[in-house]
Amino acid sequence: MGSKARLVPRRRFLEACMFAPLLPACVAELAELGSRSPRIDRVDLYAVRYPTRGYFKFFADPKGQSGRAAVVVRVTCSDGTVAWGQSVPIYRWSYETLETAFLVLRDYLAPVVVGRRLSDIEAIFKALDAALAPGLTIGMPIARAGLEIALHDLVGRLLGKSVPELWGRRPGGDVLLSWTVNPRTLDEVDRLVEEGKQRGYRHFNIKVGGDVAADVELARRVRRLAPHAFLWADANGGYDETQAVEAARGLADAGVDVLEAPLRPNHFAGYRKLKKLGALPILMDEGVVSPVDLANFISMGLLDGVAMKPARCGGLRSARAQIELLEQEELIWLGSGLTDPDISLAASLQLYSAYGLKRPAALNGPQFLAADILRKPLTVTEGRMRPPQGPGLGIEVDEQKLLDLARHTRIDWPTGTVATIHAR
Ligand SMILES: [Mg+2]
Repeated sequence: MGSKARLVPRRRFLEACMFAPLLPACVAELAELGSRSPRIDRVDLYAVRYPTRGYFKFFADPKGQSGRAAVVVRVTCSDGTVAWGQSVPIYRWSYETLETAFLVLRDYLAPVVVGRRLSDIEAIFKALDAALAPGLTIGMPIARAGLEIALHDLVGRLLGKSVPELWGRRPGGDVLLSWTVNPRTLDEVDRLVEEGKQRGYRHFNIKVGGDVAADVELARRVRRLAPHAFLWADANGGYDETQAVEAARGLADAGVDVLEAPLRPNHFAGYRKLKKLGALPILMDEGVVSPVDLANFISMGLLDGVAMKPARCGGLRSARAQIELLEQEELIWLGSGLTDPDISLAASLQLYSAYGLKRPAALNGPQFLAADILRKPLTVTEGRMRPPQGPGLGIEVDEQKLLDLARHTRIDWPTGTVATIHAR
């Protein structure tokens, strides 16, 4: 490695290995309650599929069922406080499925938090960390994120603080959004970009990772239609090394600003080569789950930044630690998502807003999802979203809408799509 390679100092590396903690004053406020603090009495899970609109290649289901899968997590405390989280698996995108997320939450993660008092919130997070042995990195991070986000909502509601305030941050401003262009053929590009513009969007992300020549042509067309946009290409690990080099050069020439996930994340030599090539900033996504993964990828000189998404990295504590590390290292972080519905979307908005995200976020739930479960749905105005205001995540779930969605969700498994885990 050359002398100019960015190396994460050992101490900082070790700090980065830890999840970012809550503000000590908040932890202390809960600790002071001691045995008077509320206890987690039950966790309810709902497996649902949100109806979708428009074409997005990741939503096709092998059994012919459509919709964006999610497990809604409802946590109830002994004082009656109710809090919400959401796991958002997409099997075409990661190994986690609706079935595995539901069962892991039901049988492994929820049982370790029920019965515990909120006076020791760090112990609850640690129990969650220890519930499943990790693989190379955090195990089942998407399932885990749903419960971890619910714990943030719960602590915020108990203390009367917004989630950013639990981190010692002020709720920030609106989050600027990027419109996803995923055409089946190039003939669809003009219509898709126009649709985004009609809805007030000014920035675009494109799905690439197939035929390089077609990808470059897609980029050229979008750039011609949106000359001033932030244009972000995501290959979802779809290229081999030769294609990736060709694509990085071609996409740069076509006016793309960043290239995300050109290769599978374990192609270390390829990533190093692309970063050295310097045709475009190279971002990683799928392979970076824990802050330790990120620190290692940085120290090996494999990336210029990360497309962040709390839903895929185990939750908000992992995502915050990674954003803080990227900022220390003066690397790029982009706000991204997993076509997050309501609750997961609210968590991402709180995170990106609180950390002052500068570039347009690829939070495309509002673009592709045709249902919601909130009393006051999250809305897009002129291509921007305002993080909901109020304690915790700032949202109120409409339980009737949730039950209706659960009732209309057909899932072929014998154990039911709703589960309750009680304290023993
Ligand atoms: Mg991606």
